[in-house]
Parts: sequence; structure tokens; C-alpha cells
Amino acid sequence: MGNIIQGKLVAENFRNQIKDFIKYRNDNNLNVPSLAIILVGSDGGSQYYVRNAKKLCDNLGINCEILNFDEDKSEIDIINAIEVLNNREDIQGIMLQLPLPDNFDEKKIVSTINEKKDVDGLTDINIGKFYSGEKSFVPCTPKGIIELIKSTGEDISGKNAVVIGRSNIVGKPVAQLLLNNNATVTICHSKTKNLKEVCSNADILICAIGRPDFVDESFIKKGAIVIDVGTTMIEGKLKGDVKFESAIQKAGFLTPVPGGVGAMTTTMLLMNTCEALK
Ligand code: NAP
Repeated sequence: MGNIIQGKLVAENFRNQIKDFIKYRNDNNLNVPSLAIILVGSDGGSQYYVRNAKKLCDNLGINCEILNFDEDKSEIDIINAIEVLNNREDIQGIMLQLPLPDNFDEKKIVSTINEKKDVDGLTDINIGKFYSGEKSFVPCTPKGIIELIKSTGEDISGKNAVVIGRSNIVGKPVAQLLLNNNATVTICHSKTKNLKEVCSNADILICAIGRPDFVDESFIKKGAIVIDVGTTMIEGKLKGDVKFESAIQKAGFLTPVPGGVGAMTTTMLLMNTCEALK
């Protein structure tokens, strides 16, 4: 039976680092970081995420402004608001809550965020820097995943890592971060042949599919580190991509859902916001 990776505890460790940073800034009469979050429309999941981010900022002593726009606002209204934030010296981080309602051009709006304030790592400039190995803001969910793997005490270097999923926000960036940590990386997707066989050779298996209970113990190499990124709401309960009771029999380490990757994402956003101030 494997070990459960406690995302909440790992996140707590990073939150303490943020608290220390804020204390140092306050003790030395220095400004503390300020994050602006732009929320468009009334999607329940987005509102929940933004509310939690604000609560965490308040707890840690980070300033947080939420700019709430109705769905009937125009793209220009949002872009104008971003430009004001870009020019405000008292704001270090800008986060645009995604996805935007269908009538908004996400890419166009994201591209107006100043890359030095792009704490979610979404702009083309940050993405380009990230994949070419230059210093950049690292996307929050993948950054949190790597910290969860490191929390096991296992060395990533030289391991066979398999990522199921190739999205721009999870699959591709997490594969890049694993590569940066010297893993040998395979990316799988819906057209991958012999998926089970490929996965069962993985020392590290990242599941970012969005299909509840898709991965069971038959996908898992004995002792592997398994990270479940999936979050699908079923009858009011959050379900991961990994069939937990089955997988824990074979995995060496496994993240739960909830309480695994999700617990890290907002904390990584606030780490990036502190980084932006530094
Ligand atoms: P996405 O954009 O829908 O991508 C899903 C990926 O899974 C695609 O690359 C797709 O392949 C692949 N896939 C789908 N069915 C498959 C199958 N049968 N076999 C192999 N691969 C398959 O999703 P995402 O944005 O990356 O998110 C993935 C999951 O993570 C979702 O449940 C999302 O809610 C969750 N998530 C959680 C957090 C968090 O903080 N906890 C953050 C972000 C996302 P193709 O490319 O071939 O279509």
C-alpha cells in the first residue's frame, strides 16, 4: 500500500515561506505584494477559485483586488482595465481567471497583460521564455505538481515520466518541467496506442485527462509516483482521473482528489506574486 501525498501539508510549507517574506517586508517598512484578479461573468467554479484566492491572500497578508466584470461588458472594457493595472506601480501581479465566457477572445485579452506582472505565466512572452529555458513565470498547476513530486524525497533525475494529457495549461508545461528536472518524458493523449503499456513503465505518472477513475492499478508500475490532476464534479463530489482505492495498492505515492494538486495551485500563484515583487 502506497503513501498519500498530502497536498495541503506541502502547500502549508510554501504558505509559511510566503508569511516569512511578508513579515520581513512589513518589519522593514517595505511594500507587500499586490495581486489583481480579473473575473468575467458568473461561472460558479471560477467564482469559487477567485474567492479562495482572495481568502488566502487575506490570510497571508498579500493585497488582493478583484475586478468583477459582467458577461455583457466588451473586450475593450477588460483590456482597458488590464492596461490601467499594467501601469499601476502598486500592483505586481495580474491574474485573469480562465476560462472566459465564449464571447471573449481569450488570447487577445491575455496578450495585453504586461509579462512582468503575468503571474499565471499565460502570455506568449512568458510561454516562449519558459520553453526556451529562460527565467519566466512558471504556470501554477505544473509548478505545484513538481513540488508535490519533490515532497516525496525521490529524485526526478533519470526517472521515466509519463504525462497523460497535452493541454497548454497542464500536460505540456508539466512535461517540460519534468524534462528540466532530467526525467525521460513521454507525453500521451487520446491517440496514443497501448496507453496502459506505456504508463506501466512510468516511475512518475501524471494524469491530466479529465476522465474520472480512468487510471486504475493496471496502468501503474509498482512503487510509482502517481499525480492525479483531474477534477471532474460528479453529483456534487470532486473526482480525479485515478481510481484511488485501486491505484494506492500499487503506487508508491499518490495524490488524493481533493487535497492533492488543487491544494497547491493557488499557493503557487501567490509564490509567483511574491516573486514578481522581488
Ligand atoms: P484538456 O485541455 O481537456 O486536456 C485533456 C487531455 O487529455 C487532452 O490532451 C486529451 O487528448 C487527453 N485525453 C482525453 N481522453 C483521453 C484518453 N482516453 N486517453 C488518453 N488521453 C486522453 O484538460 P486540462 O485543462 O489539461 O485538464 C485536465 C484535468 O485537470 C481536468 O479534469 C481539469 O479540470 C483538471 N485541472 C485541475 C487543476 C487543479 O489545480 N487541480 C488545474 C487544471 C486542470 P487529446 O489532446 O488527444 O484530445
